[in-house]
Amino acid sequence: MTKKIIVDQEKCIGCNTCPLVCPEIFELDETSYKAKVKKQPEKIEDADSAITACPVSAITVEEE
Ligand code: SF4
Repeated sequence: MTKKIIVDQEKCIGCNTCPLVCPEIFELDETSYKAKVKKQPEKIEDADSAITACPVSAITVEEE
């Protein structure tokens, strides 16, 4: 089972917090001004601080 970070594009308000907290993982899309995953982290826990910091709980972990 692989874990994957997902940013809900409907929920994201483009506050730019997650790219600041975890710049290795997230970036803001220049067109939509919503966050997207730049690179999936090797350890899923590396995204924990961004998941906690997101004001609208748009970042989730999905198992596939
Ligand atoms: S912290 Fe949440 S709302 Fe802010 S840019 Fe990231 S995903 Fe979007």
